[in-house]
Amino acid sequence: MEAKTKDLWVFVETNEDGSPKNVGIELLTPGRMMADKQGGKLVAVVIGSGVDAAVREASTHGADQVIVVDNEVFKHYTTDAYQIALVTLVEKYGPTSMMIGATNNGRDLGPRVSSRLQTGLTADCTALDINDDGNVAWTRPAFGGNLMATILCPDHRPQIGTVRPGVFKKSEPGEDKAEIIREDIQIDPSDIRTRVIELIKDMDAENVDLEGAEIIVSGGRGVGGPEGFAPVEALAKVLGATVGASRAAVDSGWISHSHQVGQTGKTVGPKLYIACGISGAIQHLAGMSSSDVIVAINKDEDAPIFGVADYGVVGDLFQVLPVLTEEIQKARA
Ligand SMILES: Cc1cc2nc3c(=O)[nH]c(=O)nc-3n(C[C@H](O)[C@H](O)[C@H](O)COP(=O)(O)OP(=O)(O)OC[C@H]3O[C@@H](n4cnc5c(N)ncnc54)[C@H](O)[C@@H]3O)c2cc1C
Repeated sequence: MEAKTKDLWVFVETNEDGSPKNVGIELLTPGRMMADKQGGKLVAVVIGSGVDAAVREASTHGADQVIVVDNEVFKHYTTDAYQIALVTLVEKYGPTSMMIGATNNGRDLGPRVSSRLQTGLTADCTALDINDDGNVAWTRPAFGGNLMATILCPDHRPQIGTVRPGVFKKSEPGEDKAEIIREDIQIDPSDIRTRVIELIKDMDAENVDLEGAEIIVSGGRGVGGPEGFAPVEALAKVLGATVGASRAAVDSGWISHSHQVGQTGKTVGPKLYIACGISGAIQHLAGMSSSDVIVAINKDEDAPIFGVADYGVVGDLFQVLPVLTEEIQKARA
């Protein structure tokens, strides 16, 4: 389809209590810059049930306009209902580009919407820009994370991309001044081919908020086994930090996948990231290199993690971590 505007849309996914998922608000940060470069409006699209909180947050984090679809039918995510709503809106308003958070639901919704609109989608982006010709430059890891590919969609509109949570930071909230447009989209129940029968919460995943964490202490293969996470957890406890892990530790079954940082785990951006017994493979770095301060503890002085670390300790983590934990405890007391 042809774009009817130069507007850039950010789909702000909501939780069941109507609050926004962090990634939707994070995406308004690059969205603001890109919409300004494109010469269009930054529009947040909020679909859900009882979503006033999400609308307000979108409005105070830089959106010029918020398009809201608020209806009980959208309380639980279903591919069919959300796809119909989003495609209907895109066809009506004709944005030139649209960003969707690469959450489980976003990764499901994005491809469905792009295929219905017969346009392209770049999945799982980690960097964004607008080229001089007005196309979005969507950057994402390729070839197992060994290369970064920048992908353009010059011939079809809207250009769509999913973007990983935690890559961008939320802006400081400002004035609540966006124009709010309420759309009433009716979904025929027969169009929804799946039914939510029961919601089973993954309690472990709920308790591991890596993307929102200010401090993360991560363990890798160097911890040697599940019990090797004890000193990592002890340091995390005194710092009020969340425990992360490399894929090697997760694949070994020492800790659950909800702790994994990296290309196939979470992308994080804490103020402090402490990597313990992690070599610094490119796929791990893809998930944590934008942390403000990185500390690495590794017994191999040539480990690549020292290439991105602000502070490095060459040593055995089982000797270093207890001392560090004790000293921090003393300082705090
Ligand atoms: C498509 C793809 C996706 C991937 N996604 C991810 C991802 O999301 N996240 C991720 O982490 N990886 C990912 N990987 C795997 C990645 O390539 C590495 O294999 C992995 O990150 C290595 O984990 P590690 O650093 O813990 O282990 P290793 O590379 O084995 O490093 C262990 C480190 O511990 C140090 N060490 C050992 N004992 C001690 C000790 N007592 N004290 C201090 N240091 C010690 C060693 O010197 C070494 O540097 C992916 C790979 C592919 C191909």
